Amino acid sequence: MFSRIMVANRGEIALRIIRACREMGIETVAVCSKSDANATYLKLADIVVCIGPADAEGSYLNIPSIISAAEITDIEAIHPGYGFLSEVSHFAEVCESSNIVFIGPKSDALRKLGNKTEARKIAIENKVPVVPGSLSVIKSQQEALSVAHEIGFPVIIKASLGGGGRGMRVAHNDISLINSLTIAQREAKAAFKDSSIYIEKYIEDARHIEVQIVGDNYGNIIHLGERDCTMQRRHQKLIEESPAPYITDRAREDICKAAIKMAKSINYTNAGTVEFLLDKENNYYFIEVNTRLQVEHPVTEMVTGIDLVKLQIKIASGERLNIKQKKIRSQGVAIECRINAEDPYNDFRPQPGKITNYHPPGGRGVRVDSHIHSGYEIPPYYDSLIAKLIVHQNTREEAIACMRRALSEYVIEGVKTTIPLQLDLITHPQFANGNINTNFVDNLMAKT
Ligand code: ADP
Repeated sequence: MFSRIMVANRGEIALRIIRACREMGIETVAVCSKSDANATYLKLADIVVCIGPADAEGSYLNIPSIISAAEITDIEAIHPGYGFLSEVSHFAEVCESSNIVFIGPKSDALRKLGNKTEARKIAIENKVPVVPGSLSVIKSQQEALSVAHEIGFPVIIKASLGGGGRGMRVAHNDISLINSLTIAQREAKAAFKDSSIYIEKYIEDARHIEVQIVGDNYGNIIHLGERDCTMQRRHQKLIEESPAPYITDRAREDICKAAIKMAKSINYTNAGTVEFLLDKENNYYFIEVNTRLQVEHPVTEMVTGIDLVKLQIKIASGERLNIKQKKIRSQGVAIECRINAEDPYNDFRPQPGKITNYHPPGGRGVRVDSHIHSGYEIPPYYDSLIAKLIVHQNTREEAIACMRRALSEYVIEGVKTTIPLQLDLITHPQFANGNINTNFVDNLMAKT
């Protein structure tokens, strides 16, 4: 087992990883930008290295700076968390060549799956159903039109290297497709430094179902069940739960099997998530693989009782997966709400600033993953996730009641947060009866 690990991330996920290491008796080196240098969670790391300015390009995304910090602190492995460098194959490669273990999949898997058109090809080769669409990157307007005519409108234009719900545009006819094409390419270039785009049939009334997979370095691959992440705003998740409600046992089993098939076909190692869309008839379609720990991993931890961060570290250190697929049991229902420092009733404007009063909820079955506290200053430079509120109860009904209670207890003053919206969503009758799709929140907000 490693004796010292670097945590190359910030905020709640940095704290989540530091906590796992402290329980495992592993020393941690935390990195931080200048703007995070006084953050309280850093006190829980054994060593802190400031790696650059507030701007993430100069710090959390700065590979030479992170590798220098790793060398002077003599660490054996780096946990990248999610976002930032977690899915950058070049970073994993640099780690590999510097004799540092990257806690995640091999750089080769990151490269193959990081490109969504390549991932689609792998799915097709392995007979995993994909959303009908282009077989590779779209090169011309003519090609875009002919794909759209073949699969039928509406279609969605997506960036090949896209992520975080960005760079997607829906088109309903020839004119909007041609207009959106150039905009989508420009947006992809700006956000992902690559203008490649592809086209998929736009699945209306879709639910987002994803499968947690874990593989060791010896070819053993298992899944830890599925999560439903249908409650989204502009393709970004707001509420996640496990197990997925209102899905046939057949679809659940098939989706999990398809995820394993994908993972096995490229000898996937460490933790990953295979994402699917599910239509009204319970047909499922592969959309992408996320080659990292997900924000929503706690819901899987709660129902399976498995600590995913510890498991990632054990696998990266060379341990074998000692859990058999048959032994994995999902117990009860877990739901997570992402608490963002945003004003949900003013176009979700980010709310940087000082938290003047903070009281997190507690009680049976309540977990809060967060680095914030009274007096914490939310910096304006990074994403707005400030806390994850997770509940675990025996039934879905109890989990919803517990989440409602916990959200209403949660005091965060000084900045606006998504808590009031989360309360509206969690108590919405359509959430209770599973009658939602990925556009539910956008449609609801458009009406008010
Ligand atoms: P990202 O990598 O940016 O998260 P994904 O491919 O995972 O992008 O898709 C994110 C979300 O966008 C999905 O959960 C869904 O809401 C929506 N989406 C993506 N592809 C489609 C599609 N073909 N039809 C309908 N919605 C889609």
